[in-house]
Amino acid sequence: MTWNSSRSFPRAILHIDGDAFFASCEVAKNPHLRGKPVITGKERGIVSAASYEAKARGVKRGMRLFEVLKVCPDAVILPSDYETYSIFSERMYAIVRRYTPAVEEYSIDECFADLTGLRRVLGMSYVDMAAAIKRDLDRELGMTFSLGLSATKVLAKIGSKWKKPSGLTAIPLRDASTFLGKTPVGNVWGIGPNTAAYLNKYGVRTALDFAEKDEVWVRKLLTKPAIGIWHELNGEVTDELNTEGRHTYQSISKTKTFTPPSTNRDFIYSQLSKNIENACIKARRWRLATPAIFSSSRPRTSNITVVRSSSRTQHPFRKISCARWRSIFRRSTRGEYSTARPASCF
Ligand SMILES: [Mg+2]
Repeated sequence: MTWNSSRSFPRAILHIDGDAFFASCEVAKNPHLRGKPVITGKERGIVSAASYEAKARGVKRGMRLFEVLKVCPDAVILPSDYETYSIFSERMYAIVRRYTPAVEEYSIDECFADLTGLRRVLGMSYVDMAAAIKRDLDRELGMTFSLGLSATKVLAKIGSKWKKPSGLTAIPLRDASTFLGKTPVGNVWGIGPNTAAYLNKYGVRTALDFAEKDEVWVRKLLTKPAIGIWHELNGEVTDELNTEGRHTYQSISKTKTFTPPSTNRDFIYSQLSKNIENACIKARRWRLATPAIFSSSRPRTSNITVVRSSSRTQHPFRKISCARWRSIFRRSTRGEYSTARPASCF
């Protein structure tokens, strides 16, 4: 580990994350909603995004709408409008590209930007660049963003989560241990609940405990993705930005682990629908269509739902009717969730 002896930013990687993005897009579109508890996801019956006013009243992502109305009867509940969210997303990427061409469009409301080497060109420090990008995004898009600046993607992600909403947190390598010591290992990007539970068994509770393990230990006990995360926590880039984008995908998959596991039929249906939506958002962004969708739930490995869309043509994603999807869901689960099986294909 070389945090103390290394430069603060051998690389300057910025992670940008829209705060309550879908709800914020709705507010930016209809300013009279500002300050109100706004929720999206009406079409699906569960909360897809909630404004901070709604969160303050106890509304959480994934909550069912009848539960929302109990804690927040005056909630403004809106159907999702992905076309609008995509327009805001494109504008976000365009603003960040004014500063650097090296931008990875990670998801509809998140991107990474590589600022390395731009200090002299732009005549400002990396932290000032991040502040300027944030100022432009907040002002021009009418919503707030949270930013993290550090030497790797994994550290930058810790920064953007640090102070939400509307935070800007720089983690120079010399201060990394302070931040990592306060971050539970399960909150590190890429470490799922199962890996976190496994690491806990070895006494690894915080990201710092993990980063301080020696490489031999890490290589012996962990798989390649976790080894990469260990390097990134130590300030070494193993996950370069993908600035090219991708124009073909073998498949796009979205996975959700339920903690605790659930056997609630409506809840699982909602979550599967959400996974499909998220896969479709990505497919639409690359103007891809799919001949097939697969979904499955894996109860024995703590209930995972997977939706996979294989994209083989150049047309926008075709619409699936709610009735069609419901019948696929019914057929695929056959009324219970006790076995793992690929659900459906059409
Ligand atoms: Mg976000």
